[in-house]
Amino acid sequence: MFLSDDLLLDYKRCQRRTFLNVCGDRAQKEPERDFLLKLRDENRQQIREILAEEVKYVQPQFKKGDWQEGAENTQSLMAEGVDVIYRGVLCGSGDRWQNSHLFEMSPIPSFTYLAKPTFLIKQPGMSVWGNWCYVPVNVKLGKKPKPEYKTIAAFHAYLLARVQGTLSPHAELILRGKKQYFVDLESWIPRMLGVLQTCEQMLADRAEPEVFISRQRCSLCHWAGYCHEIARAQNHLSLVPGVTPNRYESLQTLNINTLEALAALDPFVDPELLDSDTAIQLQQQARSLLENRPLLRPLSPHLSQRNFPSAPIELYFDLEAEPDRNVDYLFGILCVNHQTQTEKFYGFLAERPEEESLIWQQFLALLARYPGAPIFHFSEYEVDTVKRLTKLYKNTPFPLKTVLSRFVDLHHWVTTTATLPVESYSLKSLANWLGFTWRDSDIAGDRAVCLYDNWLKGGDRSLLETILRYNEDDCRATYHLKTWFEQFWTYRSSL
Ligand code: SF4
Repeated sequence: MFLSDDLLLDYKRCQRRTFLNVCGDRAQKEPERDFLLKLRDENRQQIREILAEEVKYVQPQFKKGDWQEGAENTQSLMAEGVDVIYRGVLCGSGDRWQNSHLFEMSPIPSFTYLAKPTFLIKQPGMSVWGNWCYVPVNVKLGKKPKPEYKTIAAFHAYLLARVQGTLSPHAELILRGKKQYFVDLESWIPRMLGVLQTCEQMLADRAEPEVFISRQRCSLCHWAGYCHEIARAQNHLSLVPGVTPNRYESLQTLNINTLEALAALDPFVDPELLDSDTAIQLQQQARSLLENRPLLRPLSPHLSQRNFPSAPIELYFDLEAEPDRNVDYLFGILCVNHQTQTEKFYGFLAERPEEESLIWQQFLALLARYPGAPIFHFSEYEVDTVKRLTKLYKNTPFPLKTVLSRFVDLHHWVTTTATLPVESYSLKSLANWLGFTWRDSDIAGDRAVCLYDNWLKGGDRSLLETILRYNEDDCRATYHLKTWFEQFWTYRSSL
């Protein structure tokens, strides 16, 4: 069986994912998310730009999926001394190689390792072929040399060493913006071997790792629906907001395995494992979920002295951005006039990224039209963007401080005053709990990014309409949440 670099990369991110990719029921696997396909596309473009600069490179030819043939042809190219090999293949088993302290491990012979470095680059140095050897180079989209990138680079260097009879002087990463990074193999090969061995053991034993839902990690995974279903059926504690992998471990040590046990947790049980503030927060969250009702949080003195803003005219603000192009391309504002009982949505949309300054001006003009209106938004992103654009365009008609004093972050108000029976404190989850539904239920922020990207590439105007509808619904969901929260705040203030 092949144990590939892709499987090892997945294992570093989530062990269960590698297990399911090998042993899972394929019918449960969802198609790749658009956002992942977009990232893959961007990575291909990054590689194309590098290839355009490389004067000469050779790509081994082999039948699709015939990795052994690919490895043999790659080896022949290396023996010939080709300068740059693009998409070479390295194969090898884990036995036999013990002639370096870096490679001490007891591999399971049933696995054949498979690696596909972006490039193999010729260097001076002694190898089985003569006075040259190769260095593995991987092109990655990330800005930073993440541990998983270094693990995979070490895996490539490990396999390459077995083919060429010597360890390459380093392994290289080319990151976003063509930033070069050299991986210290002395330090990363032993770490990689530790990961490789546990991964092999898991697959050999067919030991399915427990489900653990982590919003950030699972949201782009093609097993998300399947794992979520299992977690729900088990009432798994990872569905409780605030239960991180470390805290989960602490809870297990304390023999807290169910929602009921968590709701009854003694906050002072063991400060070494869980500090009392965290324990109270988790206990309250479990209670709220079990009783399916909001609970009050103790108010900070700062908040207890403040009134929750409301006004005859209110603005609800939500942004759409394309991080890869560093552009905020849609400023959506729902203007609610309580006096006239009217609502109007303004979607200031940059059809080209260069129009960002234009929509920024339109946005500022709307704010100037309603000088006393509070601006409700959800999360810090809107505030950060207003700060960024004020600095960038330097032409704000009013001081930044005046604009920001009108901003009201609903996420902050909600999360600091209430514990709610939800799986996450995202706008979608909170608004859904309140009964609000989006017109396009399958769209989320990452999907909107892809739609905008597709619009820029293909010019399909219906994509812009979908994004505008999604953004308007985000503004309306914020309004929905604010209406509920205002009543909640009035109730809590009356206590
Ligand atoms: S959904 Fe989450 S837990 Fe399940 S395999 Fe994917 S990353 Fe792992």
